[in-house]
Amino acid sequence: MPGGPNFTVAMKESKETIYTHTLKRAAEAEGGTAALAGLLHVPHNTLERWMSGRAQTPVRAFLKALERLAHHESTGVARPMPAGDEPLVFRMGPLLARCSRCDHTEFAPADPTQPLKLVSPLVCGACGEQVIHSNLIAQLAQDAVLHTHAVTAARVRRQNEFKRVSVRKKPDVPS
Ligand SMILES: [Zn+2]
Repeated sequence: MPGGPNFTVAMKESKETIYTHTLKRAAEAEGGTAALAGLLHVPHNTLERWMSGRAQTPVRAFLKALERLAHHESTGVARPMPAGDEPLVFRMGPLLARCSRCDHTEFAPADPTQPLKLVSPLVCGACGEQVIHSNLIAQLAQDAVLHTHAVTAARVRRQNEFKRVSVRKKPDVPS
């Protein structure tokens, strides 16, 4: 449940997603939404729709914003997020980021005394496997796209199946 106790500490408002949060931070670091829109080669109002969550951010644009934000963190332009005490959980729609080794969904900074940067290593809360923060988010974004495609494909399949069944339900011709 968004906003629940396991929800990532970065998400202060339940309406905020990893997409909108990342774009906001990237825009700040870039010097404004106009600068970020230019960098992503999209009209300003398109970016605003992404940032408000009214339109889904395309994965390519999201990954580019993520990469720029990581760069701005490394140069000190963007402030990293303070590391909280709660386990980190990364959610996009119905999906959670998972440990590639054991499938666990809770992570912690490898060094809890340091601010949480996108290049920071995280450790799986169950098996201790390490993963870079930004890689985990990028993987989740890609999985979310595949998931959306799979859901759409399943719906099309069901609809086609329904049509076939409807056709078959017409009176059988005795053989
Ligand atoms: Zn694990």
